[in-house]
Amino acid sequence: MTPVKTAKAVKKTAPAKPESRLAMVRRARRINRELGEVYYYAHPELDFENPFQLLVATVLSAQTTDLRVNQTTPAVFAAYPTPEDMAAADPEKLEELLRPTGFFRAKAKSLLGLSAGIRDRFGGEVPGNIEDLVSLPGVGRKTAFVVLGNAFGVPGLTVDTHFGRLVRRWRLTEQTDAEKVEAEIAEIIPKSEWTMFSHRTIFHGRRICHSRKPACGACPIAQLCPSYGEGELDPEKAKKLLKYEMGGLPGQRLKPPADYPGRPAPPLGGNGAETGADGGSTAGAAR
Ligand code: SF4
Repeated sequence: MTPVKTAKAVKKTAPAKPESRLAMVRRARRINRELGEVYYYAHPELDFENPFQLLVATVLSAQTTDLRVNQTTPAVFAAYPTPEDMAAADPEKLEELLRPTGFFRAKAKSLLGLSAGIRDRFGGEVPGNIEDLVSLPGVGRKTAFVVLGNAFGVPGLTVDTHFGRLVRRWRLTEQTDAEKVEAEIAEIIPKSEWTMFSHRTIFHGRRICHSRKPACGACPIAQLCPSYGEGELDPEKAKKLLKYEMGGLPGQRLKPPADYPGRPAPPLGGNGAETGADGGSTAGAAR
């Protein structure tokens, strides 16, 4: 189990004056550095082996957990390994395979459309630029950034539900619209850090800084957070709120990277409840 860095004693003093922009930027970058130490293994939580698989998995992650997507995609990728195969799929057969992810008819339609687009307009290869990606049916800007950042190495911010909630709790922005959040954070965090800052922030949101009850008493960046105290402060109770590897539970990926300190997720039909899945998605987000 991952050693959980516990919250340092947090002194709450009333701020004498509003934080300057410079101080806020420095604090944001420190949050990024400290989260980088805690989640040194942060990574996309969708299983994939090539850009097409990541694109498919990201589209499927709308309105469900990455865990459920990862449990569903092995059968999908085995049946349709390439865009050409998927474009030629029998819609009903594809829908049946996608059923565990919910909204399976709409998702099947998106996958058929984007696969045909990749086959017909891009020679069967997922394009590696934002304009071409968003021209594919069912592919929004954030889905495109997930693919660009993680399959093509192009820096991108992924503003999903966790990311938006956390940067607002950290008072790095007050925006609620994803594109405005993205634009403001892009001014604060260096471009070379965008992809990893997104992963670290989403990891923190899924494991510690939960939507309803953040585990403030077990939070390693409590000293940098103006919202400290919004959640559970008692260290023992806070520890019980931790999820995935932080709580000694399996993660979301069936095939996690080699440096992942937790356990892999169980396959479909395994005990998914044990993972502490939080209902949030990377890219549900991502649309
Ligand atoms: S709200 Fe609590 S759990 Fe979230 S970052 Fe702040 S101190 Fe940590």
